[in-house]
This record gives sequence, C-alpha cells and structure tokens, in this order.
Amino acid sequence: MKMAALVLKNLSKSYKNGAVGVCNLNIEVPEGELMVLVGPSGSGKSTALRLIAGLETPTTGEIHIAGMLANNIPPRDRDIAMVFQDYALYPHLDVAGNLEFGLKMRGCPKNEIRSRVGEVAAMLGISELLKRKPKELSGGQRQRVALGRALVRKPKVFLFDEPLSNLDASLRVRLRQEIKDIHHALGATMVYVTHDQSEAMTLGERIAVMNTGTLEQVGSPVELYRDPQSKFVANFFGNPAMNFVPCSVGEGGEGTEIELGVARFSLKTRTNLPVARQKAFLGFRPEDVSIGDLSGENSLAGRARVLTVEPLGSETLIYLETESFRFVVRVLGYADAGVGAEVGYAVHESKLHFFDEQNGKRIPEVLGTETPER
Ligand code: ADP
Repeated sequence: MKMAALVLKNLSKSYKNGAVGVCNLNIEVPEGELMVLVGPSGSGKSTALRLIAGLETPTTGEIHIAGMLANNIPPRDRDIAMVFQDYALYPHLDVAGNLEFGLKMRGCPKNEIRSRVGEVAAMLGISELLKRKPKELSGGQRQRVALGRALVRKPKVFLFDEPLSNLDASLRVRLRQEIKDIHHALGATMVYVTHDQSEAMTLGERIAVMNTGTLEQVGSPVELYRDPQSKFVANFFGNPAMNFVPCSVGEGGEGTEIELGVARFSLKTRTNLPVARQKAFLGFRPEDVSIGDLSGENSLAGRARVLTVEPLGSETLIYLETESFRFVVRVLGYADAGVGAEVGYAVHESKLHFFDEQNGKRIPEVLGTETPER
C-alpha cells in the first residue's frame, strides 16, 4: 500500500459567525492519487482545500502531509501548490516571469529554473508565449500559465480550486483531459475541487462527495454510481438523475413487497427485511429500465404511458407515467415511441436501490451488499 500523501483526521472548521465549514472530515489520499472533492455550493469543499493549504486554521482535527503533522506548519512551508479559478497571475510579469517566480522565491538555482520552466511550458503548449504579459493571453492560456506555475514547483501535493470554471465548455473539456494526462505523466498527488459531477467523474480516480460540511461517501466513480450509499450521492451523479419514487417496503409472503401509490410489486430474493413496512424512496437509473413487451420476472414491471420523447442523437430519453408515479428511461440510439402510447417497462430487481425516507441512507437489507452484475 502506498504511503498517504495527505491525511485529514476528524477535521472540523467552524467560522466565527457560527457557520460550519467542514465537520469531522476523514480523508486519506495515497501518494500519486488524483482525488476529487465534489459537492454543491456551500458543502465545504473550499474550506477543506484552504485548511490543507494552511490558509485557514482548523477548529479541531489534524492534517498530515507526507507523514508529518502539518497543523502548525505555515502555508509557505507546506510544499503545496494551489491553482485557483481566477488564475492570480502577476500582471507586470511576463509568462516566463510568472512561471519562475515561486522558484526564485525559494532560491532555486538559475539552471534548474530554466530547465523546469522550459519543460513545463512545453508540456502545456505555452513555449511560444513566454514573453507575453497576462493581459495578452486568452483565458485558457492564462489558466495554462497558472497551472504551469504550480507544476514547476514539483510540490508534494497539488490543490485545484475549481480551476476551469471560468473557461468555456469546450476548453474546459480539453484542459480537464490535459490535467489528467499531466497527472499520469508526473504521478503527482492532486486534490481537485469541483461542483460539477461530470468533471468529478471524468477526472477523479477517487471522489469524495461532500454535503453540508460532511463527507457523504468516498469511492471510485463507478462505485459511487453503482453503489450510492445515500440518496444524496445517488441523485448527484448521472444525467438525467436517478428516478426516485416514494414507496413503502417490507417483507411480503415470499420476499419483498413494495407499494408505490396504488401499485404493488413483489420481489422474490430479498432477505432480512423488517416485517413492518418502512417508508422509503425507491431509486432506479434511467438506463436500467427496459421497455417493450417484457416478462417482468423478478422485476419492477408494468405498463406506462409515454409523456414526452427527447431524441438526443446518440440516445433517446422517454418520459413515462403510470397511475402512481413518473419516471424517465434512457434508450440507446433512436427510439420511436409515440406520445400517449402505452409501453411495457421493467427494471430488474438487482438495479433497484432503496433509501430511508427520513435520513436518506441506503437500506442495505433490501438491496443486499453485493454489487449488482452489469
Ligand atoms: P464550497 O466550497 O463547497 O462552496 P465553502 O467551503 O466555501 O463551500 O463553505 C462551506 C460553509 O462555510 C458555507 O456555509 C459557507 O457559508 C461557510 N463559510 C465559508 N467561508 C466562510 C468564512 N470566511 N466565514 C464564514 N463562513 C464561511
């Protein structure tokens, strides 16, 4: 097992006005990993990053960087480089000057500075721009310079705070890929903050999902997508999002019985359920619904009416309605479904998720703990 480059232990930060930035955060980032912190606005991502950088002081808890307790190490001695959304370049210095600045400040020898700046500029495709001032650069070029300024330092940990959110969509996708490539090429430890679920999924080797200052779940993109441990995580990833239907669930005669409004379904292979009915949310992903003439064995199945159809080229979204609930289905390619028509639908029981109505946590007895086969 690789050494942890970064450990956050029971880390909490409350602000003077009483706001909770983060609460009892426990995260380990192994050396060489790209970890994404993702969550909606106000969920504590920036606070976590600023605590790691030393720009905020924790209320309680510990930060370890490369095996050393860092709580009392000043920011400039933490050997961390941070890339922000708003570039923060020195306007009076040219690109070369901006790239060199941090190394000069640290007394790095001239030859070393020249070779590192040359290498990084080539890696980022900005070698032609070294003599330009920041104001003579496009947004994408400026963000490349900001990235370069972090890269030349070769720090123990890179921190990224929504570095691409000022860029237009296509540039964002391109730079995202470049950051991923750089991460592979350097084997660098990176913590990357974003509120964008697709950015988190494409970039992260592992993703830590934050919600109101606490950690909801940590896992690889596929783990979070397949085995969300809460409704919050289930809802956060996927576009369109998972379908959720309020229901009650409990043991029936031979297995599990689910009530959704006026509809009742029985599933055979459930165990350990409380006998009493429990209020829950049933969740299933749009791509896990089959439509057509289906047998429906071991499935949530029935007939539904087509409300709208959205052909998106590579896939079609079909919005359906039963007597008791509405849901969306994703079908690959073009699907010729007539509005108002009735279709059969089925979701295999291995693709159903159940979440407690009150606290949103997954109800493990219903789904079991195995990852469903896909
Ligand atoms: P995110 O980066 O996920 O948007 P933040 O870490 O910025 O979230 O904020 C988490 C919580 O802490 C929010 O409720 C926010 O209002 C509060 N907060 C952040 N910074 C400060 C501050 N300097 N003073 C008071 N409250 C703050």
